[in-house]
Amino acid sequence: MSVLDSKVPEGPIKDKWTNYKNKIDLVNPANKRNIDIIVVGTGLAGGSAAATLAEQGYNVKAFCYQDSPRRAHSIAAQGGINASKNYMGDGDSDYRLFYDTVKGGDYRSREANVYRLAEVSGNIIDQCVAQGVPFARDYGGLLDNRSFGGVLVSRTFYAKGQTGQQLLLGAYSAMNRQIARGKIEMFNRHEMLDVVKVDGKARGIITRNLITGEIDRHSAHAVIIATGGYGNVYFLSTNAMGSNATAAWKIHKKGAFFANPCFTQIHPTCIPRSGDYQSKLTLMSESLRNDGRIWVPARIEDAKAIQQGKLRPTEIAEEHRDYYLERRYPAFGNLVPRDVASRAAKERCDAGYGVNATGEAVYLDFAFAFERYGKEQAKIHGIKNPSKEEIIKLGQGIIEEKYGNLFQMYEKIIDENPYETPMMIYPATHYTMGGVWVDYNLMTTVPGLYCLGEANFSDHGANRLGASALMQGLADGYFVLPYTIGDYLSGDIRTGKIPTDSKEFDEVEKEVTERINFFLNNKGTKSVDHFHKRLGKVMWDKVGMARNEKHLKEAMAEIKAIREEFWKDVTVPGDANEMNMELEKAGRVADFLELGELFAKDALDRNESCGGHYREESVVKEGEQKGEALRNDTDFAYVSAWEYKGEPADAVLHKEELEFKDIELKQRSYK
Ligand SMILES: Cc1cc2nc3c(=O)[nH]c(=O)nc-3n(C[C@H](O)[C@H](O)[C@H](O)COP(=O)(O)OP(=O)(O)OC[C@H]3O[C@@H](n4cnc5c(N)ncnc54)[C@H](O)[C@@H]3O)c2cc1C
Repeated sequence: MSVLDSKVPEGPIKDKWTNYKNKIDLVNPANKRNIDIIVVGTGLAGGSAAATLAEQGYNVKAFCYQDSPRRAHSIAAQGGINASKNYMGDGDSDYRLFYDTVKGGDYRSREANVYRLAEVSGNIIDQCVAQGVPFARDYGGLLDNRSFGGVLVSRTFYAKGQTGQQLLLGAYSAMNRQIARGKIEMFNRHEMLDVVKVDGKARGIITRNLITGEIDRHSAHAVIIATGGYGNVYFLSTNAMGSNATAAWKIHKKGAFFANPCFTQIHPTCIPRSGDYQSKLTLMSESLRNDGRIWVPARIEDAKAIQQGKLRPTEIAEEHRDYYLERRYPAFGNLVPRDVASRAAKERCDAGYGVNATGEAVYLDFAFAFERYGKEQAKIHGIKNPSKEEIIKLGQGIIEEKYGNLFQMYEKIIDENPYETPMMIYPATHYTMGGVWVDYNLMTTVPGLYCLGEANFSDHGANRLGASALMQGLADGYFVLPYTIGDYLSGDIRTGKIPTDSKEFDEVEKEVTERINFFLNNKGTKSVDHFHKRLGKVMWDKVGMARNEKHLKEAMAEIKAIREEFWKDVTVPGDANEMNMELEKAGRVADFLELGELFAKDALDRNESCGGHYREESVVKEGEQKGEALRNDTDFAYVSAWEYKGEPADAVLHKEELEFKDIELKQRSYK
């Protein structure tokens, strides 16, 4: 029998969560005052959890490595947040959101969790509106919605291209109320470097003050990890440069299983890489695919001329353009899910049709949208016989209202005006669906240790649909964990304060200090970034958009070799008792160098194509779906949960078998 217990409640899917909430144990308000909770990470998931737990009466200690929770990576989220409100009257429902999410994730997520997510999605919008989040509204003042990939309805709530920022300000203001009341003690510029277990339960953490270098002990009755995703294992990604896997990886090494590490999202609409010295990639929100059309030249000679700078895209006639997503997937067109759109872009570029000097770019063109919106505006404003220029100008005004900040960002980076020339985009690492394994309560395999938001594996299966990460992070923090954690903490009401002067705290603090001293004393010859870039290259080339057995085996060996060299030859300048960003990076890259190998091992084990995980050995060979990814439900309808056993290569696989009782397993088709 599996050691994993998902704790999914019995009963019909639509009643599970309600019945469960009605029956689980609670902590009474007076006892909550005697219970301490640590929340590591104050992005949308951790921030919403910290605010809600403090509101309930628990004593919260919250930690982030930035100088304010307002700077969490969640601030970067552009496009929007999903909810099944059906405000557009286009047939949406909890069931449809549940269905789209399970199908979008290629049937590799836990049904009960996803249904609950859909069920609470509407509450998130109400909560955020009550906080004053300025969601976009239509002419009549009602909340507006737009559409994201992989769905046939419009259910995405947005605040221009700054949805994450506005939601984060909402969560931060809710936190601030509790900081002012003394219910949240906020530790900015503190990095959690390890977790402390006492009698098998998570009871505290060790942190480093990033300004002074001081090492501190913090105890609590439960520890929550909400530290975001691990996309930066690829070195280049759309994530904030500080995003890292240290907290998640450290708890993995202390007993939390790590699930589906190979499920990574490569986002189709990012600004293409420009050269070897780049340290960051930039996302162009998926919302742009509502109005932009994706194409490459249909003729190879035109593609070559463009690559050599001899031809402009606007000079290519309509009949010589290949709108390849509309051609291959007529039902969903430019709004196919991200994994499908990314692979299709790669296929065209690999075939030689890329549209920049590196050959790794496709166009995202708004010319049709300018015209469509312009004509509509001319009618609305009663302009008779408008000229083509007038129409385009009016249409550009509408696009500017919707996506102005994204267009501006593009122009600043590429130095080309996307109102005049189509944008260039290419897939880039963006999001990690894999993460720490959690049960229905969001508890890891370590009692009292929880994991929320992008850091956990739940809900998105093998591919996340656009605008669903914010929904999941806020569902976890505002509406799931605050209920489920009570069930565990009800057993702790008589425990009293957890002391930090115990041997368990001594031991972990010693480990942390020894590692810091090692880095500073190693005096090798190569920088931390040198190793991170090499890791990223192996990850992209061999564990990227297309994977095969040979490359995955090579990747595992190469990552191990880079890791061994890192420990021998890394150099970290500066001191421990000061602000030392190289030291911070060293610890994070050391963890990525282990995680990367487990990632490749997981990809090797999963010899099927599903969602963002594309195994070249597993594709449809014949018929209408020829060349498309081929899932294998007979052998792989499970969550891979890896147990740490020393070297990443020695990790032991535990399988959580996935049951589909409410959705029929089908081969995904967006044709
Ligand atoms: C460019 C971009 C655009 C996106 N747009 C959208 C969108 O439109 N819609 C959508 O649904 N999703 C979007 N996403 C995905 C979404 O933004 C993220 O998945 C989500 O914000 C993650 O939230 P989180 O709270 O889990 O983690 P984060 O926001 O990454 O927060 C992590 C927190 O953990 C802290 N932390 C990390 N490690 C430690 C440590 N060791 N010690 C102490 N603190 C630590 C950090 O300081 C931070 O407070 C986008 C992602 C990117 C990259």
